[in-house]
Amino acid sequence: MKVLKFGGSSVASATNISRVLDIVEAASNDDKVILISSAISGCTDTLIESGRLASLGDSSCLSLLEALCGRHDAIVKRLFTGDERKAVLEELHTVFDELNALVTSILGDKSISDARKQEIQTYGEILSTKILAAKFLAEGCKVKWLDSRDLVRTDGIKVEETITYTNIRKAVESEPGTVIFVAPGFIARDSQGCPTTLGRGGSDYSAALFAAATSADSLQIWTDVPGIMTTNPKTVSAARTIPQMSYESALCMAEHGAKVLYAPTVAPAMASGIAINIKNTFDPANPGTTIENLGKRKICEWMGVSNFSSGEDECICLVADGPIDVDLSLKRAVTALKDAGIVAIDTCSENHCIILKVRKAVEKQACAALHREFFEFAKPSAVDVYVAGHGSVGRSLERFIAAGTGTRAGKEIRLCSISSDRQFVDRVIAEAPRRSVFVDCTNSEDIYRKYVSLLNAGINIVSSNRRSFAVPYVEYAAMKQAALRNGCFLRYNTTVGTALPILESISGSSGYNDDLISIEAVVSCTLNHIITGYDGANTDSFAKLLQKAQIAGLTEQDPRTDLEGKDALRKLLILAREAGVPLEAEDVEVTPMLPEEFFNCSLEDFYSMLEASEPDFIKREAELDALDKRQRFVASIRRDAKSRTGYKAEIKMQLVGTDNPFYWISGTENVIVIKKEFSAPLVIKGAGEGAREAATGVINDIIR
Ligand code: ASP
Ligand code: MG
Repeated sequence: MKVLKFGGSSVASATNISRVLDIVEAASNDDKVILISSAISGCTDTLIESGRLASLGDSSCLSLLEALCGRHDAIVKRLFTGDERKAVLEELHTVFDELNALVTSILGDKSISDARKQEIQTYGEILSTKILAAKFLAEGCKVKWLDSRDLVRTDGIKVEETITYTNIRKAVESEPGTVIFVAPGFIARDSQGCPTTLGRGGSDYSAALFAAATSADSLQIWTDVPGIMTTNPKTVSAARTIPQMSYESALCMAEHGAKVLYAPTVAPAMASGIAINIKNTFDPANPGTTIENLGKRKICEWMGVSNFSSGEDECICLVADGPIDVDLSLKRAVTALKDAGIVAIDTCSENHCIILKVRKAVEKQACAALHREFFEFAKPSAVDVYVAGHGSVGRSLERFIAAGTGTRAGKEIRLCSISSDRQFVDRVIAEAPRRSVFVDCTNSEDIYRKYVSLLNAGINIVSSNRRSFAVPYVEYAAMKQAALRNGCFLRYNTTVGTALPILESISGSSGYNDDLISIEAVVSCTLNHIITGYDGANTDSFAKLLQKAQIAGLTEQDPRTDLEGKDALRKLLILAREAGVPLEAEDVEVTPMLPEEFFNCSLEDFYSMLEASEPDFIKREAELDALDKRQRFVASIRRDAKSRTGYKAEIKMQLVGTDNPFYWISGTENVIVIKKEFSAPLVIKGAGEGAREAATGVINDIIR
């Protein structure tokens, strides 16, 4: 069974009704359908008004009904001809006669009961659904009109689900030959036997009741907007459809002012595990919004902005799925309002939302400001940049910015300050405007501890400092989450392979990482440089080459840090984590390039030991040459069910032949090979070192 509900505008004219017919007929090709409809748009309002006028003794209530009858007649005349037209008009006029009699009977009755007022409202849905059922019949469909008043039961306040479900089930089962059931939404009968309603917008709720009663496979709410949107598109043109929501967040949105879905609709669907699909009658191909059970989210995801009035004021509600960091989110929202010149009079939070109260006069601006802050990732044309680390990368960056690099991408980068001072980052946190960019070009081991504070202050981060990301995984994850929570970016593409598009290639293709087989990388430039430069026939010994590299600033201060594989380890951690593998340093099996004794002595002794080993190196090179092999220092993760993370991680010297891309590198080239189950390996190779390259990569990260 499928349940399709159509709103008032979907049935407001003959043209619109013909769209409904198309949608329902298509749906009924492979399943039975229950079609629930609202009254034609404006009808319920008119009925309420005519009841009000009647109780005041104002006979213009009857002319309102006459005009309403005229609107229905016009639709019928467009949809039907000949005898069919006559029959349908007759049927509608019988309903109108009843309605007229009811309204006339209360003319001048100031103490008209609430039940009577409700009864008047029930006529709209009867009229619209009679037209729909007649049209399906005229088209030769196996159709049956169901009287929802006889099926949906209330106790005067709420729906009695057990009786209602039994009634609906029986009604449907007793008509095995019927393919399309048509039933009025919104209306019911109370325990006294009086026709009543389910509250304004209640047709959605009717549809959910019919769906739950019949254990429907599908519950579709067809309306005139493309699903639930991030905010009211009439107020904010950048509003967009939310493709997927949990029942809880949809309920929160509906309860806090979003008009597209009547809040009570959610409970019956949720209780029976039926997904609610909200679609646009005027754009049926658009997938709209699906509301379903999404499990518990670990990370807060913002869903939308709704608003509702609260006396003199307006409450703006920011709805989220997953755990909200209330203090931080409120601070962010209040600041966004303040930036737009709006004062938040009061704030509070609930399970799935935070709420900010503003003056009614600024309601629209407030929605727009919060939508901009939480949902629009507009790229500003100028970026304010604060650079920590005035070393070789910082200086290159300074030159590039001065030369106007970045304006190519339509962006002006403004270098606000650059400093190697350790206190600099604290000043940036205190003073830099939100949405500016902090650039970390330092080698600091502990500057990462400030990242979360930077992000919490609304400041984006670009970092070329790989030490910041080789920290324990929980701290790495905390930084990532802080970025997400604050709507800021945290980019560090230069930490592996410098300007090579390595990390973005991994993150861009991860998400379905079940199919990742391995990542192998030769990413240690210093070592590359020396290893590829050394062939055993040089004028310089290996020790001499290393020392020269050290003097040229190509190695760490103590070059053994490189030989030990420390730098490679950091890079491997970053690579693995980018692929979704929560690797820790302890998980990696590192085999240093040289035996232990080389690392447990003074630098001076180290060099003499190395020099003494030169004959061995020469011999080894000759052997390898004969085999046509090369040595490479390779960092890798490889799928392995026995390892804690599902991947075995290693860093060690490997012998590679001419069939291996690692064979063919020289100088400071980096190569990375990503193997997945379903495609040929991705190989990225290129210059992986240099201050210019790093600065280029940093600029890319700033303006991406
Ligand atoms: N016609 C009713 C109303 O306008 C019910 C509905 O449209 O869902 O409130
Ligand atoms: Mg509605």
